[in-house]
Amino acid sequence: MTDLILVLNAGSSSIKFALHPASPEEGGPTLAGEIGGIGSAPDFRAADAGGAPLDVNILEGMDGSADHGGLVSRLLDWLLAGDWGGCIAAAGHRVVHGGRRFDRPVLIDDTVMTSLEELVPLAPQHQPHSLAAIRAVAARLPDLRQVACFDTAIHRTQPRLAQLFALPRHLSDAGIIRYGFHGLSYRYIAKVLPDHLGDRADGRVIVAHLGNGASMCAMKARQSVATSMGFTPLDGLMMGRRSGSIDPGVLFHLQESNGMDVAAVRQMLYRESGLLGVSGISNDMRVLEASDDANAKEAIDLFCYRAALELGSLVAALGGLDAIVFTAGIGQHSQTVRRLICDRLGWLGVEIDQAANDGHSARISTPGSKIDVLVIPTDEEAVIAEAARTLI
Ligand code: ADP
Repeated sequence: MTDLILVLNAGSSSIKFALHPASPEEGGPTLAGEIGGIGSAPDFRAADAGGAPLDVNILEGMDGSADHGGLVSRLLDWLLAGDWGGCIAAAGHRVVHGGRRFDRPVLIDDTVMTSLEELVPLAPQHQPHSLAAIRAVAARLPDLRQVACFDTAIHRTQPRLAQLFALPRHLSDAGIIRYGFHGLSYRYIAKVLPDHLGDRADGRVIVAHLGNGASMCAMKARQSVATSMGFTPLDGLMMGRRSGSIDPGVLFHLQESNGMDVAAVRQMLYRESGLLGVSGISNDMRVLEASDDANAKEAIDLFCYRAALELGSLVAALGGLDAIVFTAGIGQHSQTVRRLICDRLGWLGVEIDQAANDGHSARISTPGSKIDVLVIPTDEEAVIAEAARTLI
């Protein structure tokens, strides 16, 4: 029997899962799937090693009140009753926040768990879901080795200046710094970059992770040197529902003159802004691209304008640029967004091949473009599986 690694990626409204062979020679996941709609109407989908959908629903009787822990328990009931070609020998989790302490994946024990709990105030919207998944696995399989992989870890290689806010020093010392996120996605891209760029992979590269959450990472020699997200995943680019960077004065104004309390401002910045707020229609790029509404068009234009601006600032952090990589839902699938962003980057020497872009080719820049522009699908779960293999 092969050993399997259970990979869990618990987000705010979804839990992605996969079973990877513990030995990488045995190929990709034997099972992968997702529980979506958490908090509203949970739904379940899974596919076998060949990608064929499985005709099962493990969530019978569960509704919007089901929490992450309960859903992971239900998932485990199903996984442990099935035959997946091996036994679960370890679990690997995506954990959003590793603070300053965790700059690499770690085997979870009681001390680590206490540290992760202490980080909840830094990511109250995200960290509790990862911890709930870890606890649910520990409750069911107390002897199973569990590994935590952090979204923040890759950014700990950044120079101090890239991590500092211009705040009183005692606050920086207390951990109010730019942590950055989407690290597992960036780790995956950094790993596969040489397959696409050869030696240029170790040059100056900006990775644009454009999904519901969106950020960019500037890499030199495949190490993070700067990123667009900061203390929270709210900073930087415009996102599906999040505002991205905003003049902090607006927040005072909303509270002092518009009578909003902190909870209302948080709700607006995290859930009601971004593509949804500007369009008034949807946070889903597909819906906006299909719409004739002028506000939908303006939302897309603003998304791309802000992305081009952020990219320009990361070019300054890198002192030049050799390549851009687009990844995640929008980055991989929206030729319109890639074109609108790249159209603003002609001054850098970026030149897009329209046919390659429309065809979602791996390389969408022209042979004469000074900057290589690539489209690379990300795979956060593969990074978690790899880390778990290494640590067990
Ligand atoms: P998450 O951050 O939730 O993992 P994803 O990486 O799955 O998000 O990205 C979701 C985003 O990708 C949504 O805005 C969705 O509309 C967009 N997207 C997915 N497929 C397409 C497509 N074919 N064209 C344009 N946008 C797409």
